[in-house]
Amino acid sequence: KLSLRDVVKRFGSNTVCDGISLDVAEGEMVCLIGASGAGKSTLLRCINLLEPIEDGEIFLDGEDISIPGLDPMPVRRRIGMVFQSYNLFPHMTAIENVMLAPRRVYKKSRQELRPEVEALFEKFGLADRMEHYPDQLSGGQQQRVAIVRALAMKPEVMLFDEITAALDPQLVGEVLEVLRLLKDSGMTMMLATHEMGFAREAADKVCFLKDGRIVEEGPPSVLFENPTDPQTREFLARVL
Ligand code: ATP
Ligand code: MG
Repeated sequence: KLSLRDVVKRFGSNTVCDGISLDVAEGEMVCLIGASGAGKSTLLRCINLLEPIEDGEIFLDGEDISIPGLDPMPVRRRIGMVFQSYNLFPHMTAIENVMLAPRRVYKKSRQELRPEVEALFEKFGLADRMEHYPDQLSGGQQQRVAIVRALAMKPEVMLFDEITAALDPQLVGEVLEVLRLLKDSGMTMMLATHEMGFAREAADKVCFLKDGRIVEEGPPSVLFENPTDPQTREFLARVL
């Protein structure tokens, strides 16, 4: 579904992605772990074409989306992304926030969109929060609305960058629950996370990044229980 081949990203002389190759199969959840500055966010931003890459290729369903000069907008419709900060528009209700992009991009009316959008709110336990404004919602609810907003564009792949990092600990669980639901419904997902417990239990594959390289990757059972690389071991000893 998503394939990275020797992706190189530099900021000036700082090589932040140093030849990253990675496959995410249809319906798979891949977790990126690693210390701060390892390059997790940058890699996700490159996939969503928010950052140009210096070398390598990124394939979405076999199509090279990293060709310089390619219009990023159609690609971004196919790859949804959610960030640590939810960035909902404060002057719009939750449902208006969610309908905004599909109304503009797909030229659909509120009436046309309403049934599918309501179904999304329903699915993620937000049915009674649709008409609320962001400041009337908890952080966890706002982040779930932000996920619903990305899903309303009907993406083929979803990228999540530390989406629980800004939440109070008691609100983290409800957002991780949304990720589980999404995975169960077959979504192809890639996430950068410091939630090791979640990665261990829910990921199909975990990649440990250090200095812009994938040092070790594998199923969580192997990567967490029996890592072969000394750097992976050292990292896990620190965070687990
Ligand atoms: P964290 O766990 O803290 O989120 P990360 O793994 O997501 O870290 P990145 O944010 O991808 O790490 O940063 C990787 C490196 O790239 C860092 O050295 C950072 O300073 C650098 N970097 C990121 N964005 C930019 C930018 N826009 N301009 C210059 N350097 C950048
Ligand atoms: Mg980051």
